[in-house]
Amino acid sequence: MSKSLTTRSEDYSKWYNELVVKADLAENSGVRGCMVIKPYGYAIWEKMQAELDRMFKETGHQNAYFPLFVPKSMFEAEEKNAEGFAKECAIVTHYRLKNDPDRPGKLMVDPNAKLEEELIVRPTSEAIIWSTYKGWVQSYRDLPLLINQWANVVRWEMRTRLFLRTAEFLWQEGHTAHATKAEAVEESEKMMNVYADFAQNFMAIPVIKGLKTETERFAGAEETYCIEALMQDGKALQAGTSHFLGQNFAKAFDVKFANAEGKQEHVWGTSWGVSTRLMGALVMTHSDDQGLVLPPNLAPIQVVVVPIYNSDEQLEAILTEVDVLMKAFKKLNISVKFDNRTTQKPGFKFAEWELKGVPVRIAVGPKDLENGTFEVARRDTLTKEVVSKDGIVTYISDLLAQIQKELFEKALNYRNTHITEVNSFEEFKEVLDTKGGFVSAHWDGTAATEEKIKDLTKATIRCVPLDRIEEAGSCVFTGEGSVGRVLFAKAY
Ligand code: AMP
Repeated sequence: MSKSLTTRSEDYSKWYNELVVKADLAENSGVRGCMVIKPYGYAIWEKMQAELDRMFKETGHQNAYFPLFVPKSMFEAEEKNAEGFAKECAIVTHYRLKNDPDRPGKLMVDPNAKLEEELIVRPTSEAIIWSTYKGWVQSYRDLPLLINQWANVVRWEMRTRLFLRTAEFLWQEGHTAHATKAEAVEESEKMMNVYADFAQNFMAIPVIKGLKTETERFAGAEETYCIEALMQDGKALQAGTSHFLGQNFAKAFDVKFANAEGKQEHVWGTSWGVSTRLMGALVMTHSDDQGLVLPPNLAPIQVVVVPIYNSDEQLEAILTEVDVLMKAFKKLNISVKFDNRTTQKPGFKFAEWELKGVPVRIAVGPKDLENGTFEVARRDTLTKEVVSKDGIVTYISDLLAQIQKELFEKALNYRNTHITEVNSFEEFKEVLDTKGGFVSAHWDGTAATEEKIKDLTKATIRCVPLDRIEEAGSCVFTGEGSVGRVLFAKAY
């Protein structure tokens, strides 16, 4: 295993791509824009899924599953949504292959097996789900519907990158239906908050909660709430979205309910999703030039134990110590791996677990046996300490909590020092070019200005922060009136 990674300062983008592959998270596949998620990467995704799933259920949601294919006429029903996704759809037109008479042993599309109606491979499932909800909702007693689906979707992205933007990705999509507007708005905000809690407490990634501008809004939504994170290269990443759909899908699919007075009304909707992009956010927020740095809450292996020995007797004695240790960790639900491979030297093992971001490494050698100690190394700070074996388990358990907390604080500090207020377009461009991060500036509220700024600087409005201070100002580009600052950034 070669350890040397391109460093972040040399080429951040290359560092990321190399790291994802070398740390065994994922690799490019033989299929354009689609990746293979490897067992180590998938184990992290499973931890994310488990926690999110728990949070969804705690907030009253249930899981269900809907078809992968959406008939074109169904897809078209909500016009804005259809138009928004039209440019990146995969479409099934035929259902059979046959032997190709001109190329022995090869197959061709059977022209006689053309579908009467094309099927769209879902880029998102509002259409199929709302067409189903029509049959599920008759009266106000049937509401709210609080459904989540874990699935794959396909968006024919032109420029793809492992995890951050792939043509097929894994995600969850929540789709809820409500009797009132207020309840649907509350649901969209609630799920944005669930995502923010998850990002901050579980992934140790600080996020800004905000609203998207009309240009950046989900096609078919009235309002898109988002959480925005900042990567170590100063670029922003949309980490999750929650949409208030108004009655758009209910109207498109004729989903009505009889209210308490027996009057027919259209249902109000929301949808919300996070994807395997979160894996990219995790890597880009915490990792360093030595490899992955994983927050303990998401690390498939939280502690690795590496024995160092010269003789079979030493190994025997180490095994006895390690056995006690492993049992104690398991009792506390700390996931621990004993790296007893005889095919690799300790130095190689250290480097490998460092690359894979295991938060804590314990080494135990002949000296430790004599002194009743272990050597404890932290992945995040790359520091080492000799710790007495008495109380080691509590020590490690506390250390994991401390690492989780400190990773968040470090990322928060970076994020906070990379939000810069500017008051002129000159300043705006300079900050973007030299420092990066979020640029907080007044904007006149028009899509035209947003577009011009994007053309000139590549920066987009990441969000209108929910906690922004209302203050009168003038647009950094046109000088027109503004009611408060918005956050611009170059983004993934
Ligand atoms: P949306 O349905 O567009 O609001 O997206 C839902 C979630 O999926 C958001 O968190 C997006 O950042 C994420 N996402 C969108 N497109 C992709 C993609 N091509 N690859 C990975 N994640 C994506």
